[in-house]
Amino acid sequence: MDCVFCRIVDRKIPSQVVYEDDSVLAFKDINPAAPVHMLVIPKKHIASISEIAPDDLAVIGHIFSVIQGIAKKHGLDRDGFRVVANTGERAGQSVKHLHFHVLGGRDFAWPPG
Ligand code: AMP
Ligand code: ZN
Repeated sequence: MDCVFCRIVDRKIPSQVVYEDDSVLAFKDINPAAPVHMLVIPKKHIASISEIAPDDLAVIGHIFSVIQGIAKKHGLDRDGFRVVANTGERAGQSVKHLHFHVLGGRDFAWPPG
């Protein structure tokens, strides 16, 4: 399967890894939209939120624990941060491997564009 994030998991494409364990990888976004912009992904290929299966729920829960730790490590927890999972065409999902953007270090507008 030709998936850029699977290739990052397999270390066939370089990335700046900020966290890794058996089931989750977090790395810096190559085109940051904020002073802090990381992507947190399951190592298993899941295409999007729409494709999460019941057996995946443990890793999804774990991802939020990882996000909490990353936010704390980068000092985002005090001032706040944003977590985004673009899902499908209308949301502009460009990589079809589930990923959670973790954005921080500036103010964010609402509603988003
Ligand atoms: P989305 O548009 O929500 O699917 O987000 C995909 C994100 O992946 C974008 O913010 C891209 O900048 C980022 N991205 C794409 N390729 C890479 C890569 N090789 N390394 C790091 N981030 C990437
Ligand atoms: Zn993948």
